[in-house]
Amino acid sequence: MKKISVIGAGASGLMAAYAAGKNGNRVIVHEKNEKAGKKIYITGKGRCNVTNDTTPEGFLENIVRNAKFMTGCAHTFSPERMMRFLEEGGLALKVERGNRVFPISDKASDVTKCLERYCVGAGVSFHYGEEVLALERNAGGGFTIRTAKTQYEADAVIVCTGGISYPATGSTGDGYAFADKFGLKVNKLIPALCGIVCEMSEIQSLQGLTLKNVRITAKNVQKEVGSFFGEMLFTHFGVSGPIVLSLSSLLNTTEDFSSIDLRIDFKPALDAETLDRRILRDFEKYKNKQIQNAVVDLLPKSLILPVLRQAGIAPDLPIHSCSKKVRRQLVETIKAFKLAAVSLRPIEEGIVTAGGVDVRQINPKTMECRSIPGLYFCGEVLDVDAFTGGFNLQIAFSTGFCAGNSV
Ligand SMILES: Cc1cc2nc3c(=O)[nH]c(=O)nc-3n(C[C@H](O)[C@H](O)[C@H](O)COP(=O)(O)OP(=O)(O)OC[C@H]3O[C@@H](n4cnc5c(N)ncnc54)[C@H](O)[C@@H]3O)c2cc1C
Repeated sequence: MKKISVIGAGASGLMAAYAAGKNGNRVIVHEKNEKAGKKIYITGKGRCNVTNDTTPEGFLENIVRNAKFMTGCAHTFSPERMMRFLEEGGLALKVERGNRVFPISDKASDVTKCLERYCVGAGVSFHYGEEVLALERNAGGGFTIRTAKTQYEADAVIVCTGGISYPATGSTGDGYAFADKFGLKVNKLIPALCGIVCEMSEIQSLQGLTLKNVRITAKNVQKEVGSFFGEMLFTHFGVSGPIVLSLSSLLNTTEDFSSIDLRIDFKPALDAETLDRRILRDFEKYKNKQIQNAVVDLLPKSLILPVLRQAGIAPDLPIHSCSKKVRRQLVETIKAFKLAAVSLRPIEEGIVTAGGVDVRQINPKTMECRSIPGLYFCGEVLDVDAFTGGFNLQIAFSTGFCAGNSV
């Protein structure tokens, strides 16, 4: 029986603690908050998109950075195994659009409760309100874990401290400092899955507008960076919503946003020719109107003036004066409305933190640090991140299981 300290009672920490405990180890979880799973509580807008009903390959395809590193543990503890694990633990699940998995109760806290039940069954002890301040390697082997009031000795330590996004949940980047103290490489921390700040002058009036079934595409010097179809919204700072969050994870290494060409296709289901025919039909219907009143069936009201302005078309242009050239300008703007991207939102607002402990230092089967036996890292503290859809929690569960099961 080994003495194991798990730092952090988030998704990865709870899973690691259970996996280590079920193998007969004496496990203590040190959590700075007064309870477990503070971040889990706010996931999926309080409903917790706990994983994705997909294969290990489907999971890996949705990992943005270091998918290869995740190959082993994605198979060892796959999304399917996670679903079975939760259901066997008494948590009924449902699958929604995009294979996103949620608890039937729609309560994120039920996911934490289920993980806690597993931990208690495996004999895990929880020390809440206990922030780990320092972590040291003992000369004779093992580690000393220092908190404000006391210190612990452990044969192995699993660092599950999360990233630095949403710091009010307790994830304040302590694990990066521990890694740094041990001389490990921590890759630059950058926001992922966050909103995109835009020059607001042309889109000020669009704040609050939500659009479904649109496509957003970013290019950098004519080369496509990414393109996503689905829902987005205009905010006080620029744009956000599911497809913008996904795109942000591909833009977060961009140094100079002035080189980014960001466009929205408001009618991705129609090619330019079909859209032109559709506009012609509307012009026929509204032949005695001005153009701003002839596109009301085509575009949401608040979009009309910004689109016409960007197309260089006077809103009061009578339909009978609309030339083919005007129609072409309109079609081009509807299919590729330009947004002037300025930056991403700050890292604290990212759904996840990208960057982190460089995975080349970590054994991908066990999550153990190659140069420091007995020291493990799992979850968001590692330089692994994924798109939305339940994949980030699955990263925490897969890596947490592999670490706990290996100590
Ligand atoms: C708003 C929001 C919505 C999200 N929705 C989803 C979703 O629906 N699906 C999905 O897959 N992902 C979602 N994510 C991402 C997902 O929540 C994280 O990737 C995941 O929780 C990471 O788990 P973790 O265990 O690595 O870290 P965390 O969950 O951040 O847990 C780290 C824990 O360590 C504790 N800790 C830190 N430092 C110390 C210390 N020094 N001593 C003691 N304890 C410490 C913290 O208090 C915290 O409890 C969402 C994130 C946010 C912010």
